[in-house]
Amino acid sequence: MTKSLFINGVWTAGSGTRRGRVMDPARSQQTGEVAIAEVADLDTALEAAGRSFATWRKTTAYERSRLLLKAAALVRARGEAITAAITREQGKPLAEARLEASATADIIEWYAEEARRAYGRVIPSRLPGARQMAIQEPVGPVAAFSPWNFPCGQLVRKIAAALAAGCTIIAKAPEETPSSVIALVECFEEAGLPPGVLNLVFGIPAEISSHLIPSPIIRKISFTGSVPVGRHLASLAGQYLKRTTMELGGHAPFIVCDDADPAAVSTLGAGMKFRNAGQICTSPTRFLVAAPLHADFVTRFADIAGKLVVGNGSEAETQMGPLAHARRIDAVDGLIRDAIEQGATLVTGGKRIGNEGTFYAPTVLADVPLSARIMHEEPFGPVAVINRFTSLPDMITEANRLPYGLGAYAFTRSSANIARISDDVESGMISINHFGLAAPETPFGGIKDSGHGSEGGSEGLQAYLATKFISQVGA
Ligand code: NAD
Repeated sequence: MTKSLFINGVWTAGSGTRRGRVMDPARSQQTGEVAIAEVADLDTALEAAGRSFATWRKTTAYERSRLLLKAAALVRARGEAITAAITREQGKPLAEARLEASATADIIEWYAEEARRAYGRVIPSRLPGARQMAIQEPVGPVAAFSPWNFPCGQLVRKIAAALAAGCTIIAKAPEETPSSVIALVECFEEAGLPPGVLNLVFGIPAEISSHLIPSPIIRKISFTGSVPVGRHLASLAGQYLKRTTMELGGHAPFIVCDDADPAAVSTLGAGMKFRNAGQICTSPTRFLVAAPLHADFVTRFADIAGKLVVGNGSEAETQMGPLAHARRIDAVDGLIRDAIEQGATLVTGGKRIGNEGTFYAPTVLADVPLSARIMHEEPFGPVAVINRFTSLPDMITEANRLPYGLGAYAFTRSSANIARISDDVESGMISINHFGLAAPETPFGGIKDSGHGSEGGSEGLQAYLATKFISQVGA
């Protein structure tokens, strides 16, 4: 795995000797190492991305689409190898990793189709005989930064959209989970992507972002990760007037109205909560439950949480794997301890499991006061906060209390409630009466501190396009 950098069409260990350790979080054991890119490697990638942009932007949308479809077919063919690599390094159960691998191919296919629909428009002119056109052009070479929670699923949204639009890209992928990403990039390479169009680097995140973002070659920054890092990268990009897409953290409210079915909704809610051990930016975190249903909902939810089979993701019976790394254990445990000290009721979980591997028990906290840190900070782990509310307006006020605005969920049988929630919840995405976020064809993104811009849908392609206006008279 040492030749983990893909720069100008060549797999390389880079010009330096620094290496990062890659761990299996289920066993706390090292499984490999990843090359750390040095400034010289980044400069080669910048030169390659800049040079190849001149030809890639002129490659027809039809040809770009054909190459993307070929890459998607290779991802499908290698789905099981990619699945195993995701589970080994990130920890999620094989069934979830398999879904991620297949969604990765879906996303490439969606952008392959959308590449051919980067339409402009003709605007009626006030001058006789004049033609006014707005056309869409690729914005230029992109620097993309993606996290470890969906090693392929997060990065492919950036790679596929950029390539479809005609942009070249330097992708800084997560050092914790390199193998599946390397396998993904190999699919693009073998599909026949010209050298330099897609470059993959790993390294020290701050070193890479502080070198790539100011470079005059880079025209667009796309980042998925935490709010503090997003704030830092957006301000750096602002200094150099670079466009940004920022997909940051969330603290998703999950509204359960008094007319909802507590049995059905607690089953669905617990399933969503503990997926990927809660390490999902749209994971429901604040369950806001109508008071008459609260006790029943908590009991049912905690019962499901307590029975989940937690273990090595590669074992068939496992329903929830380890946290991705030891940093998450300390962060999640700290939030739970603080909530209990502040007066929250620990209904189930609340402790690390074993000493080997980074396992944490699925946890339910009820009646958590606003003074607890978990009511303000994104937990990003297997913990649900279930609080009671006496009215829908109070639930909406609580939903909107935080500066986050990424995902939100609501369950009700009333169309009046649905209309009110749709209108008044401040969130980039709302899913009502089911779990319906993150399909390739739908926009995915947040508002407020959760970031800006969309990945997915036709908006995802737009993020890599610039509008050029052409006004013309005569032949
Ligand atoms: P972190 O804040 O250290 O890192 C988050 C991500 O940003 C990582 O992928 C990291 O490589 C990258 N990063 C950090 N500093 C960077 C820099 N200067 N330049 C470029 N990239 C940089 O946190 P962590 O412990 O790895 O993850 C925990 C937190 O990250 C969570 O609390 C969650 O908010 C956030 N996160 C969000 C998502 C998401 O899907 N939005 C995914 C993973 C992590």
